Amino acid sequence: MVKVLYIVGWGRSGTTIVDNILNSYENVFSTGELFYLWRRGLVQKRKCGCGARFAACELWAEILDVAYGSDQPDPEAVDELQKRITRVRHTPSLASGPLTDEGEEYRRLLARLYHAIGEVTGAKLIVDSSKVPSGAALLPRMRGVEPYLLHMVRDPRAVTHSWMRPTPQLDRPKPQLMQQHKPADSTMHWLVWNAFAERLYRAYPNRHRMLRYEDFAAAPRRTVEELLEFSGTPVTESPFLDDSTVRLEPNHTVSGNPSRFRTGEIALRADERWRADQRTGPRLAVTALALPMLHRYGYRVSVAA
Ligand SMILES: [Zn+2]
Repeated sequence: MVKVLYIVGWGRSGTTIVDNILNSYENVFSTGELFYLWRRGLVQKRKCGCGARFAACELWAEILDVAYGSDQPDPEAVDELQKRITRVRHTPSLASGPLTDEGEEYRRLLARLYHAIGEVTGAKLIVDSSKVPSGAALLPRMRGVEPYLLHMVRDPRAVTHSWMRPTPQLDRPKPQLMQQHKPADSTMHWLVWNAFAERLYRAYPNRHRMLRYEDFAAAPRRTVEELLEFSGTPVTESPFLDDSTVRLEPNHTVSGNPSRFRTGEIALRADERWRADQRTGPRLAVTALALPMLHRYGYRVSVAA
């Protein structure tokens, strides 16, 4: 039996830092955004979190070998299969409806991968921070997998501010900027992804948690150790030096926010730059669009700088 904690939520909600902290505990292995293994790791040959080109990372070579042996799937074909199956609107049917032959094939392919990760790393907990709701939908239906769901939410105005800031990608041979989203676009995704994330809860009875980025940032150590407790993962040594300073270990994340390459000692504090820097137009647009869900997640309508 392999234990997997899947982190779901719209981008820029703090999933990468939580993922990297979890990875710094003994007994825990983080895959990063495993969903993108096929396209970004194997087809585009981007960098693993260890700094090696994905194809040159020995750990992942071993995992893929244990998972598929001489039967290695064609990454382009898996990427295409994944695109067809995991449209976000398919989330509820993937969680509880009948599976097509392709859905079955994809489920088997991923189950083999998770089992191989467990076997090669010996981790008691695998963290997959793919974020994609439809990607999390199949996990509870995989044989030999004990699934946990962490749904991360962040104030949509902070999320939009982050998406509008140019951010360089660090895992490509030539530097490029990450995709940017305008306020309405980011907020529509925020609404849809969070709604679908909530619809997954019933597929994870007693094994789902909602976590606001802001609550994590206010008490990082306590929050992370509660997550480990929630997933029944023994904590032997802690990478935290105090309540909000952590030493990040190197990782083998396949994809994720560029911050995944940070290692060593890091002082964690809430990123609240948007409160002072965001212009009124985008802020009002996001507030209006997200209004009902702002209340639901406990965010104030008016914003103090
Ligand atoms: Zn690596």
